Amino acid sequence: MWLYLSLIVILLLLLYWGLCNRSSSPSPFSADSRRPPAPLVIDKDVRKKILKKGVNPARSSFSLHAVLVDHFLEGGWYPQGVASEIVFQSIPIIERSGGTVLTKAPVQSILVNSEGKAYGVSVQKGQDLVNIFAPVVISDAGIFNTYERLLPAETRNLPGLQAQLSMLQHGIGGFSLFIGLNGSKEELGLEAKNYYVYPTNFYLNAPRETAAKNIPLVYITSPSAKDPTWEKRYPGKSNMIVLAIAQYEWFEEWKDEKVSKRGEEYESLKSVFVDSMLETVLKIYPQLKDKIELLSSGTPLTNQHYIASPQGELYGAEHSLSRVQPEVIAAIRAQTPVSNLYLTGQDVFLGGFPGVVHGALVCASAVLHRNLYIDLTLLERKIKANDSKKKN
Ligand SMILES: Cc1cc2nc3c(=O)[nH]c(=O)nc-3n(C[C@H](O)[C@H](O)[C@H](O)COP(=O)(O)OP(=O)(O)OC[C@H]3O[C@@H](n4cnc5c(N)ncnc54)[C@H](O)[C@@H]3O)c2cc1C
Repeated sequence: MWLYLSLIVILLLLLYWGLCNRSSSPSPFSADSRRPPAPLVIDKDVRKKILKKGVNPARSSFSLHAVLVDHFLEGGWYPQGVASEIVFQSIPIIERSGGTVLTKAPVQSILVNSEGKAYGVSVQKGQDLVNIFAPVVISDAGIFNTYERLLPAETRNLPGLQAQLSMLQHGIGGFSLFIGLNGSKEELGLEAKNYYVYPTNFYLNAPRETAAKNIPLVYITSPSAKDPTWEKRYPGKSNMIVLAIAQYEWFEEWKDEKVSKRGEEYESLKSVFVDSMLETVLKIYPQLKDKIELLSSGTPLTNQHYIASPQGELYGAEHSLSRVQPEVIAAIRAQTPVSNLYLTGQDVFLGGFPGVVHGALVCASAVLHRNLYIDLTLLERKIKANDSKKKN
């Protein structure tokens, strides 16, 4: 108990000290990734290539990048039966607690009463709007969607809310290439690995035609090679996903066209990206050349359509140097300037699955007025003690 209290006091003092002494003591996460501590990366060319996943190196934090690399040094995780299993396995837990999961039910707006308090959501069901009332509204739709699209116009202008938005930028958009392959992982020589390939220098300021031919970062992986249940479900087949970063603006002119019906010019621009990414894939896996059965690609507009990311972001709000300044960390919280409305997910913490889980913990702690990290630490201790009892 005293240990926790002391830790909390030390954390509060550190936060206060960080806020008051920003100029003399910057946040440990706010060092520029182009300038990692000298002894760590001496080679200038290697330094140039250092890239925090999803953030332009000129705006990324070296310490955050180091945390990410440290995480991968320990290896990675892949959910058995693909990523949708995470959601699927969560549904019974939500239902056991008295919840209901609705699909094909987009929230049109958050209901806010005359006192400025959120009291539910208005959901589209077919042609109708159905109001669902709740004492607490938690939004996982991302801070931009929640504040700029789902709140009523009069609430959007709240100064506290605008102040938060002014501290954030949209993260980088993604270009995805999905490849279907004929052959098992053994036949094709696929491994449970991620490749981050940096063939050229950074390109986000380039015109889209030049950029498409000079992709600077290509992420290549084979989900089927990571999933122990795959071979049973799809014997003799494999898949691969290849990701690159892309500017939303390169594709924005087609934003009002219907998905899959955006016309020839859009498709031919996409195919330049696809050819360029494929070339990189085949340098690593030349044996796949004649095994490709399916190619399907998506631009930031595809992400906008399927995962409702406002500008096709891969990781929500940008996690750049400015995002990890102490005052921004202190300002972007699960609690919002609208009473009874909370944010969860990657925008409350960091992008990626671990960031989302922490975002959820931070949000649940705020709603329950209880530090769930302490509960988790105690639970971990209990489980470890039980495990060692069993062993003995
Ligand atoms: C192609 C790609 C590959 C990735 N690979 C990895 C990876 O390998 N590892 C990793 O850790 N992370 C990865 N990420 C990042 C990871 O997916 C995100 O960080 C994570 O999903 C964010 O979770 P979230 O719950 O905050 O938001 P999301 O997962 O984006 O969930 C938000 C949900 O809200 C819904 N929504 C939005 N508006 C409304 C509305 N009005 N009504 C109802 N629903 C709404 C959206 O449809 C969406 O389902 C990847 C992302 C992409 C795009």
